[in-house]
Amino acid sequence: MKRPERIFLIGFSGTGKSCVAHLAAQMLGWETLDTDAMVEEEAGLPIPQIFRRWGEAWFREAEARALGRAAARRRVVVATGGGIVLRPQNRQLMARQGFVVCLEARPQTILARLQGGEAPERPLLQGRDPLRRIMALKARRQHLYALADHTIHTDRLSPEEVAREVVRAWRRFSAGVEGGGERLAPEALFAGAACVVSISSGPYPVYVGWDLLDRLGELVAGLGGRVFLVSDETVFRLHGQRAIASLERANLPTVATTVPPGEESKDMAMATRLLDWLVAHRAERGDVMVALGGGMVTDLAGFVAAIYARGMPLVHAPTTLLAMVDAAIGGKVAVNHPKAKNMVGAFHHPAVVVSDLSTLTTLSPREVATGWAETIKHGLVADPGLLDLLEDRAEALLALEKEAITETVARSAAVKAMVVAEDEREESGRRAILNYGHTVGHALEAATGYSRLYHGEAVSVGMMAAAHLGLRLGLTPPHLLHRQRRLLERFGLPTSVGGVAKEALWQALALDKKVQHGRLRWVLLKDVGRPVVTSDVPLPLVEEALDSVLSP
Ligand code: NAD
Repeated sequence: MKRPERIFLIGFSGTGKSCVAHLAAQMLGWETLDTDAMVEEEAGLPIPQIFRRWGEAWFREAEARALGRAAARRRVVVATGGGIVLRPQNRQLMARQGFVVCLEARPQTILARLQGGEAPERPLLQGRDPLRRIMALKARRQHLYALADHTIHTDRLSPEEVAREVVRAWRRFSAGVEGGGERLAPEALFAGAACVVSISSGPYPVYVGWDLLDRLGELVAGLGGRVFLVSDETVFRLHGQRAIASLERANLPTVATTVPPGEESKDMAMATRLLDWLVAHRAERGDVMVALGGGMVTDLAGFVAAIYARGMPLVHAPTTLLAMVDAAIGGKVAVNHPKAKNMVGAFHHPAVVVSDLSTLTTLSPREVATGWAETIKHGLVADPGLLDLLEDRAEALLALEKEAITETVARSAAVKAMVVAEDEREESGRRAILNYGHTVGHALEAATGYSRLYHGEAVSVGMMAAAHLGLRLGLTPPHLLHRQRRLLERFGLPTSVGGVAKEALWQALALDKKVQHGRLRWVLLKDVGRPVVTSDVPLPLVEEALDSVLSP
């Protein structure tokens, strides 16, 4: 394949595409084109008026035509409109014809930039709460932006720095292409993925769908030689043969083993047993580990894959809702230390996540509900549209209706993927927003000996405690607390807990990992999609929040 002679900049409005396209083109000595400007020229009207007069459908047609004209040019940097990725044809054209760079920015940055004097009126951002609108729209498109060849986080960079990074990335990429490397566009590589997790070592896809285990072989093929499949006894009995049959259909020699179900298996002794098993079969770094099961299995097998031969490729095939929307995405793998949960671990991302929703039909309703807690949390901290979806389709979701659950799980997975991409190794603090409800949640799990409450149940009660705290601090509006309570209850989740001694909870809170420099860290909500992380909470208010969720 030839060195791409076109660079397409994609990303949300306000990420600086036009300005960066101009600067990058200057650096390369190329031409700049801007699809929005091309549409305006064709129509003889500014975009807000085009929307008012002819509507969005007309605009999208004109935009596709403009992209077609731009893609016919050579040595050009093309700035595109924020919604250009919505059409599959546009995505395919860009992936085929050039190097696609996504410019990313946090919603708050985008809002500030759009409100800054020079930005023109944006029809898609009208309305009373523009931040909420940005977050909702951005979350809806995130999985499409993630399909770019390269992503640049622009929040702390000047336009010149971003343009230099565009050119650098294009050169690196082109060098690979000229070196004979076969390039597959991410779109083609990850066709049908619910979302893509963009991390420094390269993007990986998350597939979400019904009966996907039957396609496991085809999705794993190409990653390595033999497959080492780890599952727990319950999951293997229910779904193991389907996974193995699929791997065998893809001509992947497979060796399988099981561990007893339950959190007790997630320890060093079991990890050592799995390492012994890999050594006995002379597994190599080029072979693949497939984790088939809930979060216990994905954590345990993932940890073993991270340390065996200094790391072997990993595939997660989660079979609980909690693992599909949370544990299997983000690269955190671990086993428990006798004195501290998840204390021995690593960052080791899967090469692909295959979530077969049909496996949820054999899961107990209580286990399914624990996963809904994390999905509701994703809606609350990052995706107002997901929260609406949970409210509107609650009955269908509780009945595990295919269409509703596919859309909802895909969207929840996309929230996790987005936050992970923004803070891959928990360094910038962004990933902390996923700990909403977890400060009290973890303490409740510890105080009840990790046996009485399921994780999602503890998080559900923890989210109520956080909402009470936010309310007392004047951050969380009362209607949000009530909305959260109604939704949790609708999904069968507890909003308070009895029989837990406050002293035990205090002690567990003090030992929690989220204590920083002796202070407890809280994620609180100003609104849906507007989390704040704070340590500045007076202890009497914490006590009140605990009282509010502890029933006698
Ligand atoms: P789990 O893996 O223990 O599964 C719960 C139970 O459901 C088990 O008994 C299992 O055998 C059974 N099961 C699983 N899938 C089934 C199916 N399809 N049909 C019937 N039964 C099935 O628990 P979990 O809730 O999925 O995960 C909890 C674990 O995940 C904890 O160890 C937690 O620390 C970890 N976790 C990790 C992360 C991360 O980022 N790595 C995030 C959240 C949770």
